[in-house]
Amino acid sequence: MSARVALVTGGGRGIGLATARRFLEEGWQVALLDVNPDVLASGVASLPSPVLELLCDVSDSAAVAEAIRRVRERFGRLDSVVNNAGIAIFKPLLETTEEDWSRVLAVNLTGPFLMTQAAAPLMAEGGGGAIVNIASISGLRASTLRVAYGTSKAALMHLTKQQAVELASLGIRVNAVAPGPVDTAMAKAVHTPEIRADYHAAMPLNRYGLESELAAAIFFLCGDQSHYITGQVIAVDGGFEATGIGLT
Ligand code: NAD
Repeated sequence: MSARVALVTGGGRGIGLATARRFLEEGWQVALLDVNPDVLASGVASLPSPVLELLCDVSDSAAVAEAIRRVRERFGRLDSVVNNAGIAIFKPLLETTEEDWSRVLAVNLTGPFLMTQAAAPLMAEGGGGAIVNIASISGLRASTLRVAYGTSKAALMHLTKQQAVELASLGIRVNAVAPGPVDTAMAKAVHTPEIRADYHAAMPLNRYGLESELAAAIFFLCGDQSHYITGQVIAVDGGFEATGIGLT
């Protein structure tokens, strides 16, 4: 039988790329999907073995359907999907435009909806599998600047539960990981020195997470060790959520 297959969205860099690397280390085959061709190419080049490259915008239903068609054509199976692609626009509520709002929700929420809907039939043909949605601690607590981003991630956590309930009969488990801060390109773009200080003050472990630490949790939720876990949100956040301390 061929090795299991994982599709990782937003896989060209950051948490998604580290997750793809982890799957390859564990002997899985990987389909790496990203909207940015340069990021996708450099991500693919950095991996230790070949992957299926998928240039795709997760908010475009036709492109998502085509990506799944290519996964079927190449591998004939799909065991896990990591809905990791996301964007962050941090602005005060009164400065957040309708366009900002729509784009953040389209990528962070509609993307995982479309991808899961497209992927589930192929997963079910092989007896099921596991989907992991990448949310954020910004969806667990309200804070300034994150009206669109935080709302998209809070909704994604509820979508996770809806998907878990409906897809259980197909043998598909669905869980979410809510990362605390990780020093990726996204964080470098939106985490000001004030935001960084705020996070450090609120995290018992007093440091940013590593991409590999997120990949370990995501892999756990896709693998055999988590067969009885579905509909859950696991915060991988250095203890942030446990303290009850909010951000400003
Ligand atoms: P990143 O910006 O480094 O990587 C995100 C990737 O997604 C990029 O390669 C980008 O090109 C791709 N992407 C963006 N829009 C896309 C689209 N429409 N279709 C397909 N691909 C698209 O970010 P990251 O920090 O690795 O974030 C990964 C996930 O983790 C995101 O969902 C993010 O919201 C979440 N997250 C990150 C942090 C953090 O501190 N870095 C914290 C909490 C949650």
